Amino acid sequence: MKLKSLEISGFKSFADKTVIEFMPGMTGIVGPNGSGKSNIIEAIRWVMGEQSAKDLRGTKMADIIFGGTSKRGALNRSEVSMTFDNSDHYVKSDFNEIRITRKLYRSGESAYQINGVDSRLRDIHELFMDTGLGRESFSIISQGRVEGIFNAKPEDRRGIIEEVAGVYKYKQNKERAQKELLQTSDNLARVADIIHEIK
Ligand code: ATP
Repeated sequence: MKLKSLEISGFKSFADKTVIEFMPGMTGIVGPNGSGKSNIIEAIRWVMGEQSAKDLRGTKMADIIFGGTSKRGALNRSEVSMTFDNSDHYVKSDFNEIRITRKLYRSGESAYQINGVDSRLRDIHELFMDTGLGRESFSIISQGRVEGIFNAKPEDRRGIIEEVAGVYKYKQNKERAQKELLQTSDNLARVADIIHEIK
């Protein structure tokens, strides 16, 4: 799976529609302070379902909509689309290309789409579950988070490494399976009691 392009419109400093095509290899984004580099990363996190306005450096979600400058009025709508090449079907979907879109209006109305079809936030989460790409994943490490990782307690740091290595999801599956086993042995004990009473 490969990130192909990002389309940003009305998101933070990107008032006009801006399309970033990601070419094969590494992509670096350079620019002066305040030119919008972090806003690009935030657009990626937002389209993947980020729900915390604070984590997007705002106080409310509408703060991500272009708020105007001395030369240009504020906009009422923000839209971000991200397109993946999924020809290797890394994301469990029949589509060779996946395009996710998120829209937000100042009125509070919002929408998600997967390949142009109206979808729920849950569908977006499920699509990226176990891909290492979720909005909380370590595939995106912000400036502040680097410091957090350095200062983290050893066990927390281990959790981060486990998540990156893909061990975390197996740990969760193990915990779920252990709970089910416990529940099943309780049920078996209950059945044994009933059999004993009948006898
Ligand atoms: P640095 O190198 O200092 O980290 P950067 O290139 O990462 O900077 P960003 O932090 O992405 O820059 O962009 C900050 C700019 O985005 C500021 O000029 C700010 O005014 C602008 N901005 C943020 N939110 C909005 C908004 N809702 N509407 C218009 N402009 C916005």
